Amino acid sequence: MIRVDLAACTLRLPLGMIVLGRNSRPNGSLALATIELSGLAKTHARGVVGLHPIELEIPSGELLVVLGPSGSGKSTLLRLIAGLDAPTAGRIVIAGRDMAGVSPRDRDLAMVFQSPALYPHLSVFENLAFPLRARGRPRGSIAGRVREVARALEIEPLLDRGPASLSGGERQRVALGRAVARAPRIILLDEPFSSLDPPLRAALRERLLDLHRGSGATLVHVTHDQQEALTTADRIAVLNQGRLLQCGDPRSIYERPADRFTASFVGSPPINLIPCRIEADGDGFRVHVESFEHPTSWPISGDQLPARDTPLGAFELGLRPEMLRIAAGERAPGSSAPRLFAIVDRLEYNGAEVVARLTSGSRTLTARLGANPTVRPGETVELTFDPSRAMWFDGLERACSWAKEPA
Ligand code: ADP
Ligand code: MG
Repeated sequence: MIRVDLAACTLRLPLGMIVLGRNSRPNGSLALATIELSGLAKTHARGVVGLHPIELEIPSGELLVVLGPSGSGKSTLLRLIAGLDAPTAGRIVIAGRDMAGVSPRDRDLAMVFQSPALYPHLSVFENLAFPLRARGRPRGSIAGRVREVARALEIEPLLDRGPASLSGGERQRVALGRAVARAPRIILLDEPFSSLDPPLRAALRERLLDLHRGSGATLVHVTHDQQEALTTADRIAVLNQGRLLQCGDPRSIYERPADRFTASFVGSPPINLIPCRIEADGDGFRVHVESFEHPTSWPISGDQLPARDTPLGAFELGLRPEMLRIAAGERAPGSSAPRLFAIVDRLEYNGAEVVARLTSGSRTLTARLGANPTVRPGETVELTFDPSRAMWFDGLERACSWAKEPA
């Protein structure tokens, strides 16, 4: 495992160029690998909706991560782009060309599946050579290219073996090698690492970034692992129940989720969602938290209200665990700072910090308290947070904190 990691580090920069052969394409045709999806939709047999109509443009060279739970339509989307399934509606345009009726083979893309599809009766060498032969690469150049790719992915010692004798990680690396050997302009990855254990997964993730860096290829990587998405993506497209909920860079997905689902699917430990009511209070407004054992309320200024049009009523307050702080002793009388009371149930030390699990009646809260918190299990603590960072979700589970910001 260590060997793999070290090699990944040393090979990091040149790898993408070696493996994808950046200069092997005439006059930069990789630059044309933009994928445009318009109104693209798929209904499977028996009326099962795989994908509701989506609009998405994936710029050439982007690493887009498609993130969603099992059954959210990720594979459906990828198979449509690959041409393995036909859409029920909508268009796929790659490099300016409508893909309707274009076979997978003629789309100049490669796909890697969760269970690597290798030819069981061929050696690793022949598995890597196959796509090159199939594309009519000059015979003399094939062995050199196979060795180049195998070296970059550290599978050179395996070239004479058969797929049956390989470990899961090795098979997955061969599958990646097969996909990139002929330097396609688009690479589609359908959860290729999900069955591997975490250290191997991390090593292959490094490889993936290496592959992408400097290659110019457009890469669409499907995963259900939000951490993998946050750490690797240029942009993340969040899918749930066949719907594209949001597409944006990792920071905007994490800090400004468009809806309750995205807010709670992304982030670990997950966001705290606290039912609240906002009521008029004299000239201003007040937030009431009544579902806690210690009900509490605090004033809220007009510019911090979740929504301009319907500012009153029931909302959910979203607070990431790192937004919560212990408010011990800092509250001046008459202060309008928000506050929540809860009992420390458990402290979880993870090396870098302590995560506190708190309860208030049947409600639970999670707070990241830094490396050396002073609180103890069993203690009742007062928590506070910066109200300007709070997220709000309305009855339709839409985020309503950002609407009032200037576009
Ligand atoms: P994911 O890859 O995110 O787990 P899928 O795209 O495989 O999700 O599936 C999305 C939905 O479409 C699911 O409800 C799934 O059961 C359904 N589905 C996928 N493929 C087929 C198929 N070939 N026939 C019928 N239903 C399918
Ligand atoms: Mg899938």
